[in-house]
Amino acid sequence: PGTFKVELDTPVYKGSVSCNTGLFIDGKFVDAVEGGTIDVINPSTGKLLTKVAAATSKDVDIAVAAAKRAYKTSWGLKVPGAQRGELLMKLATLLEANINEFAALECLNLGKPWSETTGFDMRNSLQTLKYYAGWADKVHGHTIETNEQKLAYTRHEPFGVVGQIIPWNYPLTMVSWKIGPALATGNVVVLKPSEMTPLTALKLASLVQEAGFPPGVVNIIPGYGATAGAAIALHPDIRKIAFTGSTLTGRKIQEASSKSNLKVVTLELGGKSPNIIFDDADLGQAVKWAAIGIFTNSGQVCTAGSRIFVQEGIYDAFMKAFSEAAAGVSNKTGDPFAEGTVHGPVVSQTQFDRVMNHINTAKAEGATAFIGGERHSLTDGFFVKPTIFTDCTPDMKIIQEEVFGPVAAVVKFKTEEEVIEMANDTEYGLACAVFTENASKAIRVSNALEAGMAFVNCNITTEYNVPFGGYKQSGYGRELGAYAIDTYTQVKAVHINVGLKI
Ligand code: NAD
Repeated sequence: PGTFKVELDTPVYKGSVSCNTGLFIDGKFVDAVEGGTIDVINPSTGKLLTKVAAATSKDVDIAVAAAKRAYKTSWGLKVPGAQRGELLMKLATLLEANINEFAALECLNLGKPWSETTGFDMRNSLQTLKYYAGWADKVHGHTIETNEQKLAYTRHEPFGVVGQIIPWNYPLTMVSWKIGPALATGNVVVLKPSEMTPLTALKLASLVQEAGFPPGVVNIIPGYGATAGAAIALHPDIRKIAFTGSTLTGRKIQEASSKSNLKVVTLELGGKSPNIIFDDADLGQAVKWAAIGIFTNSGQVCTAGSRIFVQEGIYDAFMKAFSEAAAGVSNKTGDPFAEGTVHGPVVSQTQFDRVMNHINTAKAEGATAFIGGERHSLTDGFFVKPTIFTDCTPDMKIIQEEVFGPVAAVVKFKTEEEVIEMANDTEYGLACAVFTENASKAIRVSNALEAGMAFVNCNITTEYNVPFGGYKQSGYGRELGAYAIDTYTQVKAVHINVGLKI
């Protein structure tokens, strides 16, 4: 297997950037059995960055067999939690020592601005790995009082081989959210990064090797969803699968589980999160948070505040300031490595076409592009202008469907009751945000909204130790925090007779 290496001389990063381009299986980088490769594109230029190996079901079988061996011989509860934690901490330390190179690789592969990549992705990935390193020796069951003749207790045991499939919008962060709790609890993993953004996952694989994890404990295999992803979802020896991605694919994962071995499934899926701006909100703050909510990562955020409900009394002032904020973001669009860039491209030509299609449908259905609504004037790359639609009605696709791009749909409302009704009128239930200076209203409304995460006077600010996940068709199970530990363990109840004779 080869390596990818480039020299960068940019305002924010100077130096080389490299990673292996093979599949990481059983502690080594290898070529794919069938020899296939994936073209990895730089979305800021539309040009080829490198090719990486593409796993198929044959490679998935080999990776699962290696993971199974590792689980039997050198991982699981055989290895004390403290030792698993030390290895995770070593991985985090190695990542920290190379963090700028990881950030540069992420910027190249995703086009995400440097400030955002270093400010969130890298920091959160590190924090998450360290946090779960700390959990590894703190996972335990309970003793339960029954009667004097019995000792009853629970063990929180790992599943064994866990399959993990992740999307492209937070490539390294998603790896850390997945492997952190899985390894801390004694599972072994076969992880498939998105075919579009495999580079930082592969780079982390080198650090897994360097940290000294036993071979087979962590396997990282880029591949396409329909081949490698489907093979993971169907594999009879994978006992749990953690998936992050679209609701459409999430259904397939659940179906594959039921068709194969009823592997336990957790799903983190799409969203159409409502942001509600009440008349009594701090206008300046609400505008800034709403802009962060929809323009961060070019709107490619599952918790993106893509439906913005604004109360009639503050509507005009909000729209003026919000469209100015969008114009400001538009002016700072471009090269992720340039100083001051806050807005990058969307990830691929396909995603660009998808977003433009949503924009054109919204126009055709009668919504008004208040600002944006077109390709950014930059010549290369997949850049979409920050876009705000007004005159939106509940039945429009722009209100119902996830765009996954920098596109907000604004709706004017009158009363609290009405807005709760409209905000909940969706099959998604990932996040919501409420802006008001009235504390009881903030609590009342955030309680009434059907979402796994509620933000009050802030937006999309994920913390590594606070649970993350959705209601309704945004999925089930929770990542991050102590809650993720529960989703990577199964409970064994042990009954010991300490005196009953029959
Ligand atoms: P996607 O569903 O197309 O792909 C996600 C992953 O699934 C990729 O690795 C892909 O290769 C794989 N995949 C595709 N088809 C598969 C199949 N048939 N079987 C198994 N695996 C398959 O999603 P995407 O376009 O990469 O990501 C965008 C979506 O992810 C959005 O809907 C977004 O909301 C969602 N997302 C959700 C969260 C969350 O935590 N809720 C976080 C990030 C992204």
